[in-house]
This record gives sequence, structure tokens and C-alpha cells, in this order.
Amino acid sequence: MSFGHGRRRSAWLGVSLLLLILPSFAANGPAVTLSVDATEAPRKIFHARLRIPTSAGTLTLYYPKWIPGEHAPDGPINDLAGLKFSAGGQTLKWRRDLLDAWTIHVEVPVGQNEVTADLDFLSPATFAGGFSAGSSATDKLVIISWNQVLLYPKGWKADEITYSASLKLPSGWKYATALPGAHEVENDVHFSPAPLTTLIDSPVLAGEFLKAVPLTSGQNPPAEIDVAADSAAALEPPQEAWDHLKSLVAQAGALFGTYHYRDYHFLYTLSDQVAHFGLEHHESDDSRVGERGLIDESDRKLDASLLPHEYVHSWNGKYRRPADLSTPDYQQPMQTDLLWIYEGLTEYLGNVLAARSSLWTPEQYRDFMALSAATLDHLPGRTWRNLQDTADAAPQLYFAPRAWYSWRRGTDFYEEDNFNWLWVDVIIRQQTKDKRSIDDFCKLFHGGQGGVPALKTYTFDDIVYALNQVAPYDWRGFWTERLTNHGPGAPLGGVDGSGWKLVYDETEGDFLRSAERSESEIDEAYSVGLLLKDDGEVSDTIEGMTAAKAGFGPGMKIVAVNGRKFSADVLHDAIKAAKGNSNPIELLVENSDYYKTIKLDYHDGEKYPHLVRDESKPDLLGEIINAK
Ligand SMILES: [Zn+2]
Repeated sequence: MSFGHGRRRSAWLGVSLLLLILPSFAANGPAVTLSVDATEAPRKIFHARLRIPTSAGTLTLYYPKWIPGEHAPDGPINDLAGLKFSAGGQTLKWRRDLLDAWTIHVEVPVGQNEVTADLDFLSPATFAGGFSAGSSATDKLVIISWNQVLLYPKGWKADEITYSASLKLPSGWKYATALPGAHEVENDVHFSPAPLTTLIDSPVLAGEFLKAVPLTSGQNPPAEIDVAADSAAALEPPQEAWDHLKSLVAQAGALFGTYHYRDYHFLYTLSDQVAHFGLEHHESDDSRVGERGLIDESDRKLDASLLPHEYVHSWNGKYRRPADLSTPDYQQPMQTDLLWIYEGLTEYLGNVLAARSSLWTPEQYRDFMALSAATLDHLPGRTWRNLQDTADAAPQLYFAPRAWYSWRRGTDFYEEDNFNWLWVDVIIRQQTKDKRSIDDFCKLFHGGQGGVPALKTYTFDDIVYALNQVAPYDWRGFWTERLTNHGPGAPLGGVDGSGWKLVYDETEGDFLRSAERSESEIDEAYSVGLLLKDDGEVSDTIEGMTAAKAGFGPGMKIVAVNGRKFSADVLHDAIKAAKGNSNPIELLVENSDYYKTIKLDYHDGEKYPHLVRDESKPDLLGEIINAK
């Protein structure tokens, strides 16, 4: 999963080497029929009917709770409505489990062997976050996440239950999905019977404006991007936008050496009305950005690493997955301690692939890295919460508010491990005198047979073992230190070792300027330690820096700067003017209906991060992001 970068995000054990080939057709378990009616998607309500084989007695049904890729018990149970059960024309009694709200018990009378369940899913009506349970439908498009519109019976692994699904869409809407066997019967789309695992792993994107663009020409396995947007105009980017994605598929093949899917679909939603994030699946992804995300060059740059990130998950996250994150169904809790591999390595490889496929220029990649490093460099929460704890607490941290990010920390295993895996790449290159790199680790760890989706779980020990096969080194010691250290400062061993340095100067980089504009933000984090909305409201303060020490806290609002009405320019000008004199910057601040003046005694000017070349070392970073 991914949702923007660092504090910018909107909220943005087992047996080693166990190999499980997912059955293409489930064995042993019950065969359930699921009919979903999405014709009222523009009203944000979905109707579903299930026919579930059973016997007399108590039938226990689950509504999926732990959603794969979301790493949290966030199945949207509050949006399940209209729940009714019947058998043989008779309405059945049901009751929710008192210890688990996602569990429903239904009383089935003697003589009945099938229960019909009717339910509605209520999709949030306006722009709302919350990942796949957030806003997912507009007047012109919809993303169907099957976990939201079904129940499944207790007593079976998700791989063992077969679902025969069908879907009714608004008239004239087109659709795209990786779910096999799609064919139309009258007005419905029917799919081949599939294990519950495959169904939930295969969302459907549909809409009035939908365009499919092949990304492979004749090669196997095929890949394509399917884009749905709120307007036809949003589907017409310059040709290079498609060409870079074709390059992404080729570069990922060069990195991993094989593909673990039969047919990959990038499902890309362009809308200002849906929740923005990316969610990985084995043979597709559900990625969502603003309506102009493809046609606006600046937005395309800001979003450039999203599709590479989700695509990398097909190898790292779906094919190779931590054993304790690989649960047999959607009710058993996931353990998130190895997300520094699942998400952190994906973040590193996704960013590298964005550059290798020209989605980013080398300068844009370095701009992004500088900004991310600067965020970690100004993250005092690292002094109390180590990196391992950001992974351990992920099911909660994904939903933490933006305010106090710098002191609370967030799901930093994305950003911090981006730098730690760069460090690993640099160490492998140094230890092997440039004969090997993380690419060799990827081929060893993520390669294999390819083709039909399979799951091969791993533990921490497996990672250490595989790294040692590529380049002998104290990897256990390296990772133990990386996961438990408390700074200070960003982990820059990989940046320094790759021939670059993080510096701050008074010139704002293009990437940050675009991000500020896109997110209506003002970033003075590296100067006075303030992050603001462009109306002056404080999003966050950096503990220990000038603004926090002077009395600023999240939620306050700057009304005036040195006696003049607040604007971004007025604030920037005041910080520049205070350099070289001793007058404090006077800010009129509103805080819970009271006004007060806060003086910032700050005279070091504006500060913005950049990576600059260290000519005393070879440019390994440049080599890392070169197309292969
Ligand atoms: Zn991810």
C-alpha cells in the first residue's frame, strides 16, 4: 500500500521457505454464488446476494476484517447494511458476535441446505480517506472491492472456498479486472469460479470513461493499464506517459528476472472525488490519484512512483510475504513487524524503477530523495520510537492524524527503509567490488518459476540468509542497528556511500514547489520548524525547533506576519528579511478563539534540501537508477 510520502500523507514465524501454490480452483470447501448489483454506484450504494451452502444449526459468517495490503483490521463493517438471511423462503434469525463485530451467527432450520444472504454496502458519499473503504464511486466510475460486498463461512481457509461472482454495472459502463473468465451474460458480467483469495485480490474498475492501453507487445505474460476517469479528457496524456509505463514493465522484468502473474492490470482511477492511495494485488493494483494525474505534467511527476510501488508488490508482498503477515483468512490478526521489508524494500525498488523507466528524470529522483531525507532529518519522534516500532504499530499508525506527526512518527518504514535499502545496495556493491547489487538479491529472493500466482513466505532469518548469499556481511547486525537506533538525523549511510550529500540552501527545488502547490501547503519545516496549510493553519510543528519552542502547536492559525495579513509570500519574505538582522518575526496567531502574538527569534533564512555530488566518491546512485 502507499499513500503519498512521509508527513505529506493525507491521513498519504512460520516454516522457512514454505511454498504454497494457490490452487486455480479451490478444493474441499463450499461453493458460494455472489451476485453484486452496482447499478446504483452513482448513489454510492451496492446490493449483493449470496447463496451459501450449509446445514442445519448455527451458520457463522464473517465480513472480511483484516484487509490484505492495508495491514489493518479496517474492513468497513459500519458500512454493511440491509443484512437479511433466508432459507426455503423463510426469514432467518441472526445475531452479531458479542466479541467480534465482523462475525454474524445465523440460525438455520432443519431441512435447509442453503442460506440466501442479502446485503448492501454503503460507500462514503463524499471525498473520504480510509483506503479501499474510502470514497470509491463517483457519477462516472466505480472501484468494486469484493471484500466489501460479501460474507464467507467459518471453518475454511480463504483458498478453499469457491466463489462464482457476477456483477451488474450501470448501462454503458466499461470494466477492467484481473479476475479470470470475465464474460457478459445479458446485462451482467460473469466470472469463472475462483477461490475467495483470488476474488478479494482482484478488484474491478468500471466507468463511463475507461481506456485500456497494452504495455507489452506480444510478450508473455501480458500487462496493460486500464484507466477510468471522471472525464474523457483526463484519458489523453502525451504518448510518453504510456511509453514510460511500457518501460516500467520491461525494467521490472530486468530487475526480478521473472513475472509472478498470468496477466497484469494496472487499475488506475483518476478522480478528485475518490480516496487517494494505492493498494497492491497479485495480478493488478488499485491506484487512485487526482483527475489530472496523467495529463498534468506536474501531477504526473508527483505521482510517478505510485504505480511502480504497487507493481513491485506483485513480487515483494504478494509472491514473497512475511510468514506472520500471511493469514489463512481475513479474521486472523496480521503481525506487521516485517513491513520494513514488505513496504520498505518496495518503496526503495519502486522509486528506483520510477527513475529507470524515465517516469522520473535523475534530477526528479534526487529531488524526491532529498525531500524524504530532510523529513527524516527533522523527525524528533525518532528519539523515542524506533523504526521497528513504526512497523509493529502499523495497524494503528496508518490511521493516525497528521497533527503531531513529527513527534508521534508515522508509518516511517516506507521513508526510512527507502534509505536503509539504498544503504544495503551500496554495501553489496562495495563488498563485491561492484560485481553485485540489490538486483542480484531481487533475482535470488523474488525470482523463481513465475507464472501462476504463488505465495512463498519468509522470516527475518531468510532475509539475512539471502543477503549473505549475495554478499557476505554482518546483515543481522546491520538490520538490528537500523531497526532499533534512535538517530539523531536521517540514516544517510547509503546516500553518502553512493557519492551524494544532503545539504540545505535557500533555493526551493521544483519537486517541493510542485508538492506544496498540489497539497496547498507551505513547508518551513527545515527553517523555523512549521508546516502550514496555505491559509496559515499549522499542520504540524517540529518539536525542538524555533516555532515549537516559541509556543506554536498544530491547529493554530497564523493571521498576520509583522503586521501584514498572512499569505505564503508574506511569510517567506519575512523569514528571508529576518536573516542578517536581530528583529524577531512577529506573528499574530489565532488559537481556539483567542489571539496572541508569537515572536520567532530566527535569523538563518529559508532552508530547502538538496542532494549534491561528492566528487571524492564514485556516483553509485547514478548507476543504481540507470535503465537496465
Ligand atoms: Zn506498499
